[in-house]
Amino acid sequence: MSIGDSLSVVNATKYYKKYKAVDSVNLSVNKSEFLTILGPSGSGKTSLLKLIAGFEELSSGSILLNTQDITLKKAYERNIGMLFQNYALFPHMTVFENVCYPLRIRKVPKDEVKKRVEEMLRLVHLEHFGERYPKQLSGGQQQRVALARAIVFNPPLLLLDEPLGALDKNLRQKMQIEIKHIQEKVGITTISVTHDQEEALTMSDRICVMNRGRIEQVDTPENLYKRPKNRFVAEFIGEINLIKGNVVGIEASKAKLKTLDSQMVTVEVENHQKDMKNTPMLLAVRPENIQIARDESEFQNTLKARVFETVYVGEAVKAKTQTITGQEITVKIPSAISDGISCGKEVLLGWNDKDASLIADEASV
Ligand code: ADP
Ligand code: MG
Repeated sequence: MSIGDSLSVVNATKYYKKYKAVDSVNLSVNKSEFLTILGPSGSGKTSLLKLIAGFEELSSGSILLNTQDITLKKAYERNIGMLFQNYALFPHMTVFENVCYPLRIRKVPKDEVKKRVEEMLRLVHLEHFGERYPKQLSGGQQQRVALARAIVFNPPLLLLDEPLGALDKNLRQKMQIEIKHIQEKVGITTISVTHDQEEALTMSDRICVMNRGRIEQVDTPENLYKRPKNRFVAEFIGEINLIKGNVVGIEASKAKLKTLDSQMVTVEVENHQKDMKNTPMLLAVRPENIQIARDESEFQNTLKARVFETVYVGEAVKAKTQTITGQEITVKIPSAISDGISCGKEVLLGWNDKDASLIADEASV
C-alpha cells in the first residue's frame, strides 16, 4: 500500500501581526517519508504544521502537494489526515463509528465503509474493540483509534503534532514504534512535530531542526547526530563537547586546530570549510567518542586534561574534565573500564578524526 504524496513548502513565511513565527522556510518531504520537525518550544513547529494543514494562511510563499499548488485551498479541501495530542475521539460514538466518521462525511458507499473500517481496525490491532466506547479504552488504544480515523480516508499526507505528549514515557516509546510500523506499512507521507529529540531520532527518516522560525538543518537522524551543521543543532541533539581553537592549517580534507592551551588536534573538514585558515572554530565531539588514552600513539588526537567531577550514570561514568585554560570536556566511560577515574586525576583524552567535526564558533542561542 502506498497512499502518500510528496510535499513542498516553498519560501514560507508567517507573521502573527508583526511577529515572524515562520521565516522563509523551504522544505521538501518525499512520498512515503516520515519527517519530524524538531525544535524547542516556540520555534514555530506548530505554526508550520498549521500552514501545511490550511488552518493558518501564509503571509508569503507557497505549498505544493505533489506538483499541485494548494496554497489557497481551505483545510477541508486539502483532505489531510491529522492527529494531535488533544484531537479527541467523539465520546458518544463507538470505536467503529469514530473510524467511520471521515468516510460518512465523504459519502463513501456503505459496504465499502465497513470493509475499510475493519481493515483499519486490524491495522491498529483493535479489530475486537469496534463496539466499545472511547472511555472503555486505555490512552494508547484511544490514540490508535485516532490514528485509524486520521488515515481511513486515504489522505495524501498525515500530520502529527505531539500526538503522544499526554502519554507516560513507557507507553510513549511503545506507541512511537507502533505508529512508525503502521506508517511504513501504509506508506503514508507523514510530518510529525515534537520537542522530544529521542522521539525524533526513533521515528524519522529525516529530521528538520527548527529554531526561531527558521530551519537549521534537515538530515537523517544519523547525520544530524554525527555531522551537526552548526552550534544550535550540535547542542540541541544529544550531549556534545565544543572545543575552542584556531585553524592553523588545512591539508587535503583535514584541518589542524590549535586549542587555546596550544595543544594540536586534527579534524576532517567539509568542502565548504576549506578556507577556514586562521579562523576560530569549534571541534565538536560526543562524550561517548572520547576515551582515556594510555599514550599519544593510541588515538589520532589526544589532549591533556584534569578530572574535576565524576557522575555514575549506570552503564557509564561521566567524567568532567578541564584543560589548563579551563576548556571543559566531558567523557563517557563504560563502567566496566572506569576504575581509577577520580577527581583531580590528570588524564590523556583520546579520539579519532572520524568521530569529530568542525563547526563555526558563532554565539550559542
Ligand atoms: P512551537 O509549536 O514550536 O512551540 P508555535 O508555532 O506554536 O511554536 O509558536 C511560534 C511562535 O508564534 C511563538 O512565539 C508563539 O507564541 C507565536 N504564536 C503562535 N500562534 C500564534 C497566534 N495565533 N497569534 C500570535 N502569536 C502566535
Ligand atoms: Mg507546538
